[in-house]
Amino acid sequence: MGMTPADSPVPADDPRFSGLLEAARALQPRTVALRRQLHKHPELGLRLPRSQAAVLHALEGLDLHVTKGESCDSVVAVLNGARPGPTVLLRGDMDALSMPEDSGLAFASEEPGRMHACGHDTHTAMLVSAARLLHSRREALAGRVVFMFQPGEEGHHGARHMIDEGVLQAGGRPVERALALHITATATSGVVTCRPGPIMASADAWLVRVTGRGGHGAMPFHAIDPVPAAAAMVGALQTMVTRRFSVFDPAVLTVGRITAGTTSNVIPETAELEGTLRTLSPEVRARALAEIPKVCEHLGAAHGCTTSFEVTTGYPPTRNDEAVAARVLELAGSVLGSRFGPVMADPLMAAEDFSYVAEQVPSTLAFLGACPPGVEPDEAPPNHSNRVHFDESAFAHGVAMYAAFALDTLR
Ligand SMILES: [Zn+2]
Ligand SMILES: [Zn+2]
Repeated sequence: MGMTPADSPVPADDPRFSGLLEAARALQPRTVALRRQLHKHPELGLRLPRSQAAVLHALEGLDLHVTKGESCDSVVAVLNGARPGPTVLLRGDMDALSMPEDSGLAFASEEPGRMHACGHDTHTAMLVSAARLLHSRREALAGRVVFMFQPGEEGHHGARHMIDEGVLQAGGRPVERALALHITATATSGVVTCRPGPIMASADAWLVRVTGRGGHGAMPFHAIDPVPAAAAMVGALQTMVTRRFSVFDPAVLTVGRITAGTTSNVIPETAELEGTLRTLSPEVRARALAEIPKVCEHLGAAHGCTTSFEVTTGYPPTRNDEAVAARVLELAGSVLGSRFGPVMADPLMAAEDFSYVAEQVPSTLAFLGACPPGVEPDEAPPNHSNRVHFDESAFAHGVAMYAAFALDTLR
């Protein structure tokens, strides 16, 4: 089997990429201004009219086909290249988190209880600048670029809404490759990194309710106490994970909440356990979600209790396509410089709804380091911290990376 052009090594002096990082740097004032504007006014969930309007405004004047979502405040912009060819999708998410901001930044959130602590403001701004950069090079594009501005990444399944509304067919042809960048404060600024295969986990929340019979704390033999049954479940669930699942296709199970009872001398009728399940494959996810209620039901029965089980379905695992991820690392090396493009050793057990795109299209989620100057990456306040800072100089690397991926796919 010979190498296809798309899989051949990227020559460092490939003319398609010449000046790409410089062009991204020239857009830096625009990127930073939009980012700071979004950062001041974070919006949550699927409805973010102000952010959507900012994106639409920033794209004005470019020859793009722009549509807005119906079930959510998304923006899809399609750039047609000069020649026919495949479709590539670039994603940037737009939503913030429900939390206070204590970053001390001059452009900190002006909306109480809301913060762009996951850096989605930076993703939106970088994607707008990538659209501008690629627009200026559309003569070099054979095919089309779909820019996916997505609300509702933080638990609201925004990507699924956009897929249901046709983002993977935007521009009239199925998307053939996709890239999402995620900024991180805990990696060296400007470094783009990812790994082939699993990169982020599934995340499902589950709840077990154990029901016994209430009574006097002095006479437990006249009651059916759900508390020891619930306590036994905590240990049994951890044992189940280590005995029933391979360490090479792992599951992480955390019981984050246990509640029962009201006072010291009353046996309550019910006890509750609530937890999260993280996995890296659909198979392990399905099997673990079947095993948790089984373990709890049988343990409960051994204690004379009944149990009920509820799942709040979260995101599927995010799996990077092997070839696309390898290509992204090569491109990072050649476009951003040879020290950019290390392979991540391990996946992260956090979740991302770009997984819905990656389930349908060969895709890669890659991380863009943005540790602020003067701080060690492993000491920087991480994403989701009320004190997180992102180094803005990394934005040019993100813009160049998005553009390089599109130029490479649409050669
Ligand atoms: Zn987040
Ligand atoms: Zn995020």
